[in-house]
Amino acid sequence: MECDCGGALIDGKSSYRMSKKNFSLIIDNIPAYKCTRCDKVLYDEKTVDRIQQLVNKVERDTKEIITGKPSANLYDY
Ligand SMILES: [Zn+2]
Repeated sequence: MECDCGGALIDGKSSYRMSKKNFSLIIDNIPAYKCTRCDKVLYDEKTVDRIQQLVNKVERDTKEIITGKPSANLYDY
């Protein structure tokens, strides 16, 4: 596996941070690849998918807490 810059990617761990309007999410020690040349951090496609699912779930639940209305019917999946 190679980075866009042509540098080698090494296995490692990283943290993922994301800020949305109503919450921030920080996940530590998730599997990631790091470029030895430009220090860019890349995540596995599967890992990105899981993170996105988690973000969607947290976002949905957060809305529910703020509005006091269950949103499960609207976003049921
Ligand atoms: Zn690179």
